[in-house]
Amino acid sequence: MEENLKEKLFNQKESGWNSVSEEEKQKIFAFNEEYIKFLNNAKTEREAVVQVCKIAEQRGFKDISEYDSLKPGDKVYFVNREKSVYLAIIGQEKIENGMHIIGSHIDSPRLDLKPNPLYEDTGFAYFKTHYYGGIKKYQWTTIPLSIHGVIVKSNGEKITVNIGEDENDPIFTITDLLPHLAQEQMIKKLKDGINGEDLNLLLGSIPYNTDEKVSEKVKLNILKILNDKYGITEKDFLSSEIELVPEFKARSLGFDSSMVASYGQDDRVCAFTSLSAMMTLENVKTTAICILSDKEEIGSMGNTGMESHMFDYFVSELLNKTGENRPNLLDKVFCYSKMLSSDVDAGFDPIYASVSDKNNAGFLGKGITLNKYTGSRGKSGASDANAEYVAWVRGLLEDNNIEYQITELGKVDIGGGGTIAYILANKGVDVIDCGVPVLSMHAPYEVTSKYDVYSAFKTYKAFWNR
Ligand code: MN
Ligand code: MN
Repeated sequence: MEENLKEKLFNQKESGWNSVSEEEKQKIFAFNEEYIKFLNNAKTEREAVVQVCKIAEQRGFKDISEYDSLKPGDKVYFVNREKSVYLAIIGQEKIENGMHIIGSHIDSPRLDLKPNPLYEDTGFAYFKTHYYGGIKKYQWTTIPLSIHGVIVKSNGEKITVNIGEDENDPIFTITDLLPHLAQEQMIKKLKDGINGEDLNLLLGSIPYNTDEKVSEKVKLNILKILNDKYGITEKDFLSSEIELVPEFKARSLGFDSSMVASYGQDDRVCAFTSLSAMMTLENVKTTAICILSDKEEIGSMGNTGMESHMFDYFVSELLNKTGENRPNLLDKVFCYSKMLSSDVDAGFDPIYASVSDKNNAGFLGKGITLNKYTGSRGKSGASDANAEYVAWVRGLLEDNNIEYQITELGKVDIGGGGTIAYILANKGVDVIDCGVPVLSMHAPYEVTSKYDVYSAFKTYKAFWNR
């Protein structure tokens, strides 16, 4: 009797795997195979955009510029400078009654090349880097790195670079000090163990073969190789965006293969699951919007970040092309819209249990995590979802039998974080953070649970079908 009472009154949180049938498990694993493929093909925001457009076009999505007018059921996308993309399916109801938005980001922490990256020192050639986003610098030494990005010549010609992913490509690495000589380094604070200025990528060591008395022959040899392969000179790095990312492939993790290990799961796990959910939709009642944003890891600024007005422009175009638009309608649309800000959450890690409040932490394998608020030091900077909206989202999840957890990122005053949630909330949208818990977030190799990945997919599908 007492057991039943407890079951009725307590918010019990069990591993989701306990209630998964063999058939459901097969579905979860199959979905994650597709996710792993996506991760391996989309290691940068630009590569993610290419993959997203390919997947969307196969499902009948077209560039919005191909439509003069839009009607319910039409599927469009809008690519913003090759680094972010918005997708929409026009609903049966007018857009002015609100949209259902899911927004994630497709940029991840990494090392960018400096504008003048190439130099030679004592027989080695290197690239200078400037890290992007919140990284623990020591994690980026002594791992295989690949080079991805674009080089744009002053005549506009664009060269796409991807070196290190193919088995036959060379890889690159950043060296660290041997322990034998690291006594001084080892007593430094962890954050100071590796200097940002020392994150220099090792590129080569053969001097250019010439009798001419020229200096920097190793650098010259590298430039000769690059010139032969890409037709570029040193100056062309000035107008390039080159990113160094871990070469590691995304893989299943564990004897039971229950988890995914990969670079860039923050936040491509939410990008892939929301995109996949959108690909299943037909005849939605409310206009469905999928935002895949750039620059989240450095504050969402710039014309490809969520703070820019590019998204407003996209929604205005939807209003223009459905013929609904009138002065100030955009403001109304936002005020009547609902959003899941789909970004990862800190997964509870038993090895580092002291940073989490176990009653309010997100656990791997227990389903999608919702953060009512983020922020730090007294919720500073958080949009803090209204209880009424949290209730609406709970209702949606409970009606669809989706396991969920409502959590906080870490203990009070331990740290904190943010997402794009507040940006849309500031426009008047009802927003809650809703994503997948991750271990080792922002590390070169991050860990998620396949159960939670599938749970995110089910959640996003249910939200858009509401
Ligand atoms: Mn994120
Ligand atoms: Mn992040």
